[in-house]
Amino acid sequence: MTATNPRTPASNPVRAAVHLDLRKDVALLTAALIDINSVSGNEKVLADAVEHALRRLPQLELVRDGDSIIARTNLGRAERVILAGHLDTVPLPVTEGSLGTVPSYWPSGAPGEGILYGRGATDMKGGVAVQLALAATMFDAGAEPDKDVTFVFYDHEEVEAVKSGLGRLVRNHGSMLGGDFAILLEPTDGTVEGGCNGTIRFEATTRGEAAHSARAWMGSNAIHAAAPILARLAAYEPQTVAVDGLDYRESLNAVKIHGGTAGNVIPDACVVEINYRFAPDKSPDAAEAVVRELLDGFDVVRTDSAAGARPGLTHPAAASFVAAVGAEPKPKYGWTDVARFSELGIPAVNFGPGDALLAHKDNEHVEADAIRECLRALRTWLGA
Ligand SMILES: [Zn+2]
Repeated sequence: MTATNPRTPASNPVRAAVHLDLRKDVALLTAALIDINSVSGNEKVLADAVEHALRRLPQLELVRDGDSIIARTNLGRAERVILAGHLDTVPLPVTEGSLGTVPSYWPSGAPGEGILYGRGATDMKGGVAVQLALAATMFDAGAEPDKDVTFVFYDHEEVEAVKSGLGRLVRNHGSMLGGDFAILLEPTDGTVEGGCNGTIRFEATTRGEAAHSARAWMGSNAIHAAAPILARLAAYEPQTVAVDGLDYRESLNAVKIHGGTAGNVIPDACVVEINYRFAPDKSPDAAEAVVRELLDGFDVVRTDSAAGARPGLTHPAAASFVAAVGAEPKPKYGWTDVARFSELGIPAVNFGPGDALLAHKDNEHVEADAIRECLRALRTWLGA
């Protein structure tokens, strides 16, 4: 017997987890998830509610780690798919009158009809609601899922990568995350977005000699010396690279520049920060070689990188999923958590309700029917 219970009401004002009815209409379930504020770092109440609801489903093996949860079926099927989503959102809008906030809001006045506003409506409580609805109903009479499913809910996606709940799950429970194919239910407007570009950053530094700007000939100007770096970057024509049938458009840009100490001093150093978003046919090392060749002769230091992810759409599970969705798959340009699955050797795509361009906006919203359609597509594909 333990002497103390850290979850006694005295030490925790939340006496019981919020009750979520996973069987209600999935758009209404989305609204219920929005109503639980879960800005990054404050996912606990929502994670408690999700855990509480999933614990009532005896077919699921469940692990909780911090505010992340893994719930898996063990049906002994030949294939296992992973359905993953983050529980956190970006901070609430600060502008008075913003609709994309907490609680949720139905302008139609009829909950469940039309557009749903609220923080996380697109990114990505609609996707999380679809995961939960599937988990709750996939064993209903008549349903016969032909794949094992691993549901992953995680914290801290919208902040620095080192805090990622998914990264922590990979470290602490990697064996629970095996699978043949992963779907992240991030907003894609119902299309399949495969893989993602990688990202790598550099600092290119030029040096000069400080002098009074009234006698500039006594020094040498490091900012001027950076001009050829900018010229080469500006003239560079980024490539579009076909990987597993999808076209990945690359970007190579100066993203910051700093140098100089005062208005009357010739600058002795200048640093150009460079970001290269490279197609997933390249490793970060190969991407570095591209930039080093372009900036040959300059002092270039790599500061940060994250590999991309091949779309893996040739894998049978991925191919059958794309066929079930029925829409032409697209490449993902930004870096997403599909890369974490790719690192584990699991092909992964993004597929979820809502327009990604509305994510993080003050007027974040989603069509109720888009959430229902996403659920329908996944149910059909899973045979659930
Ligand atoms: Zn997201």
